[in-house]
Amino acid sequence: MVQIFEGGSFQERIYVINDDNTGVTGIIVLHSTVLGPAAGGCRFWHYDSQGEMAADAVRLAKGMSYKNALAGLPFGGGKAVLQRPEGDFDRRTVFKVFGEAVAALNGDYVTAEDVGTTMADMRVVRQQTSYVAGLETAKGMAGGDPSPWTALGVFQSMKAAAENVLQFELRGATVAVQGIGNVGSGLCHLLKQHGANLVIADVDETRAAVFATELGAKCVGADEIMEVDADVFAPCALGGILNSKSIPKLSARLICGGANNQLASDADGISLVEHGILYAPDYVVNAGGIINVSAEYLQETTVQVEQRVNQISGRLIGILQQALRQSRPPGTVADEMAQQIIASTRKSEAA
Ligand code: NAD
Repeated sequence: MVQIFEGGSFQERIYVINDDNTGVTGIIVLHSTVLGPAAGGCRFWHYDSQGEMAADAVRLAKGMSYKNALAGLPFGGGKAVLQRPEGDFDRRTVFKVFGEAVAALNGDYVTAEDVGTTMADMRVVRQQTSYVAGLETAKGMAGGDPSPWTALGVFQSMKAAAENVLQFELRGATVAVQGIGNVGSGLCHLLKQHGANLVIADVDETRAAVFATELGAKCVGADEIMEVDADVFAPCALGGILNSKSIPKLSARLICGGANNQLASDADGISLVEHGILYAPDYVVNAGGIINVSAEYLQETTVQVEQRVNQISGRLIGILQQALRQSRPPGTVADEMAQQIIASTRKSEAA
């Protein structure tokens, strides 16, 4: 059921899930286990081909390695993606098969929720393996839905970047939020409480309209959100949205959001610098969720989670200031910092 391809230039191991009995297919990528077990969520999404699914998993797993390293967590990076079947399917069966695959990796990979997966799915995984987080825990202990922590880290980062680097107040500024799912909706609530003006969009237009009314936000079409007049653009949907077509249309001077892999390519990071737009690297600012997941796995408390999430914005400011000093893309600066952390651990282990 699980085939293994070891090595490769981008990852340590790729596991292909191909269950003939149930038709469940997916990929687990372990990008790095240098700092600890590869930790990263499971995405349940429809892909047009296995190649597309693998490419997404590889990119996401690399992002997790860098995210975990920069957040100071004792975890490497990994990611799982499962093909979402078209039409009717039995969700329990999908996550039972996935749980068996995670169990087969004997703790080298720790999973949790990501786009398209829920706590109920992780409960099914938990019946097969203990290498899963994102579940209910006792009061005061880390655990449960990681999204509010992700939203908090993004909000604090946005505020710090606006006020400490770009010298404008987030209160009264206009923030365009793309995607009002778990992270985007939480971020909107924090921004609203802080007095920011909101423009939102989601491909689920009905939900977006209802949410906008509740929050007193302006709602626009999903194809318009990147072009609206805003001070900040907060991508909170899927990746690859910052590209050669979208960047010239952006009016925002700051990009700070929860989505993973926002840049379509490294060249787009350079293009943002050329357009005078400050980009808060996605995996730096959206680390709140994995901080909560890792604390749950290590049986730590919500107080410890809060302390670590509160450190995200300061880390971001350091990266942004270095990037501005050197006129380099912040994403490149962050990548190098993460690579150094992983390389120095590898060296000290080898010594
Ligand atoms: P979610 O599935 O709850 O929300 C995503 C939302 O985006 C959905 O409402 C969806 O309809 C909408 N959407 C999809 N495509 C869109 C488009 N083109 N335009 C507008 N809206 C669109 O997922 P989530 O948990 O909120 O995660 C959002 C992003 O943040 C993902 O990239 C995820 O990998 C990343 N992330 C999430 C967490 C977390 O704690 N949940 C942590 C780190 C990173």
